[in-house]
Amino acid sequence: MKEYREKSVQELKSLRESGKRLRLVLETVIQAAKPGVSTKELDVIAEREIRAAGGIPIFKGYGSEWGKPFPASLCTSINQEVVHGIPSEKRVLREGDLLKLDIGLRFEGMVTDMARTVAVGVVSAEAEQLLRVTRGSLDLGIANIRAGAHLSDYARAVQAHAEQHGYSVVRDLVGHGVGHELHEDPQVPNYFHAGIRDFVFTKGMVLALEPMVNAGGLQVRIASDGWTFMTTDGKLSAHFEDTIIVTDKGAEIVTRG
Ligand code: MG
Repeated sequence: MKEYREKSVQELKSLRESGKRLRLVLETVIQAAKPGVSTKELDVIAEREIRAAGGIPIFKGYGSEWGKPFPASLCTSINQEVVHGIPSEKRVLREGDLLKLDIGLRFEGMVTDMARTVAVGVVSAEAEQLLRVTRGSLDLGIANIRAGAHLSDYARAVQAHAEQHGYSVVRDLVGHGVGHELHEDPQVPNYFHAGIRDFVFTKGMVLALEPMVNAGGLQVRIASDGWTFMTTDGKLSAHFEDTIIVTDKGAEIVTRG
């Protein structure tokens, strides 16, 4: 986690352009996410579209500092996989899969990060509800953000909505500052308790907010590939993420239209 640095007005302008490009790239990838398509094919599209938009894939090679570079431009996590799934030609999408797509790029120096959960064909009612509630959790959390609000205003809203539906919020992975680097301070948990420092959101702060919600228990484990997080109980998980700028009036979401 890199130290947080203020963003200048010009940098925020570039960040908005970065977010707009990222959103359009992900839309193209989502269009291609159909039964019979491999996750590797989605990654090829993601990298091609990022570069065509004048961006640099930020996930590719991430982790090389500690000898474990992520090999792709896109994370593809299916069903009980939570996040950080590695695209592969062997992973072919099937009707009913709950697919999480996580992507980031750098444009004019500025990094944005976003994720969507996508239904592949027709999914079960349970999967559909988990998707809807996770997106709702992020939206409710974001609605609580403005300059002067506390982390707990965001985190409690996210957590309450998920738990009201009998779901659990992942604790081992959290949101983060973003912009100059993919992961900057502060950490932004999607749950709250007394042991967490309840920092104040300040004007101009750039954050990647990303609740991961499990249909069963909150426990996750890392698969043998060293990257993919899975639910320990094998139940479904969903993930939504947006990059936002904190303003006096609320959160400006740079990865939405
Ligand atoms: Mg992120």
